[in-house]
Amino acid sequence: MLSDRFGRSIDYLRLSVTDRCDLRCTYCIPKGFKGFEEPKHWLTFDEIERLLSVFARLGTSRIRMTGGEPLLRRNLPELAGRIARLPGIRDLSLSTNATRLDRHAEALKAAGVSRINVSLDSLDRGCMEKITGRDSLGQILDGIMAGKAAGFDPIKINMVAMRGINDGEIDSMVEFCIEHGFILRLIETMPMGATGRDTGFLDLGPIQSRLSQKFGLRPQAAELGGGPARYLATEDGKASVGFITPMSQHFCATCNRVRLSVDGTLYLCLGQEEKFEFRPLLRGGASDAELEAAIRTAIELKPQKHEFREAPAKIVRLMSQTGG
Ligand code: SAM
Repeated sequence: MLSDRFGRSIDYLRLSVTDRCDLRCTYCIPKGFKGFEEPKHWLTFDEIERLLSVFARLGTSRIRMTGGEPLLRRNLPELAGRIARLPGIRDLSLSTNATRLDRHAEALKAAGVSRINVSLDSLDRGCMEKITGRDSLGQILDGIMAGKAAGFDPIKINMVAMRGINDGEIDSMVEFCIEHGFILRLIETMPMGATGRDTGFLDLGPIQSRLSQKFGLRPQAAELGGGPARYLATEDGKASVGFITPMSQHFCATCNRVRLSVDGTLYLCLGQEEKFEFRPLLRGGASDAELEAAIRTAIELKPQKHEFREAPAKIVRLMSQTGG
């Protein structure tokens, strides 16, 4: 088992398979952004499989494929199958914006992806166009329904809550998720890059109290994925809403994850600079034992906590570059 200097077990890896995206969400990739990683620097499927097999031998049991938009990476279901078959991996999931999910949902399910999270910030077509930079809502809803039809259960809907942008739509999103059996997670915007910093931050504390009253929500004890969300559920237990509050109430003490970007850089924290580059080792003929040693060295670098509140201008990396 990997554990860091602060006694946290690290058993979860978020794998960014691309830093590109077909949307330009206002809080994420700036319009006209050109700083994407060159294809020759992308880890190949063979390199990813090899590195993850070493992580798995050291106790990493859960992998989430993310990006950028992971469904832009060609042949993703093939990679999913290769990861799902690695000894020690017991949970493979995907974060997607769902614009292409209708084409790939069945193949991903067959390949061994067990759970999906979909970003959806609004159910209003015009609002989604403003947030994502294009008329995307119809495609996204088709994708979500294709995911449901393919048997993904649960489907979690991630909504970044933004003051003055979509905060008036939280209740209708709760109702939509209850109706379809999805788990809604509300997320506070993080100051990653100027785009993240310039987005109207909304403290989810008061929203949580209001929704609890309106929908009769109670704290839920059962774990729903081992992540940082705190969940509240309806009295009959049939629907739940999660709150991810990196800003108003951070959860660094229980952080169990690291992030591997598309170019093979392992980021130890979303909100700090500590990193370790694996591509030179993978392309320089490192043995498995050397990779194991490098992973242990990298985990030692994991910082205690982010400083999004104390030093909001510190992180110039976009979420899509780290692997959200
Ligand atoms: N494209 C995939 C998706 O849409 O889920 C995966 C990558 S995306 C970067 C992962 C998540 O990061 C999305 O839910 C997105 O809303 C969120 N995100 C991006 N920038 C953020 C920021 N500055 N603060 C909070 N969440 C952010």
